[in-house]
Amino acid sequence: MQKKLPESVDFLKQVERNACFEVAWPVSRFARLAEAICNNQGEVTARLKFGTRAGTPCLDGYVQAELELRCERCLGPVKQHIESGFRFGLISSADEADLLPKEFEPLLASDAEQSLLELVEDELLLSLPIVARHDEACSEVLQKHKKDDDEVQHDTYRPFAALKDLMS
Ligand SMILES: [Zn+2]
Repeated sequence: MQKKLPESVDFLKQVERNACFEVAWPVSRFARLAEAICNNQGEVTARLKFGTRAGTPCLDGYVQAELELRCERCLGPVKQHIESGFRFGLISSADEADLLPKEFEPLLASDAEQSLLELVEDELLLSLPIVARHDEACSEVLQKHKKDDDEVQHDTYRPFAALKDLMS
């Protein structure tokens, strides 16, 4: 298991190595995803496993992230857990797609390095809900959200509170 991973790798070489990667990338690294969400805090984690299954070179993966989407009713932020699993069969030409067993989605693999970051980003974009909405009444959620923010601010504005207690 490798923890560190370049954003791009030669997929077919990774198949030979039966390489398995666990990655965590900051959400801010995903430019296209950023356009679809409210803020780019947090991270995306993914598990990517190359190998051969039923004679087919393949890439199994699982991605997940906590993302803040925009509520379509009130336009406020709404947190959503996004996750997706996938199984790609690696093919070297479009013709081979028809020969793949059904359990695989075809993925064109060249000899050159290909971006894992973009592959993960594509999966996340496909997994986003078409519309995001607060489950409860929007006004209540936002009210609570605002209150939480106020409390955080309250704490950060009193850095010497404990010190003051000590001195009195
Ligand atoms: Zn809402």
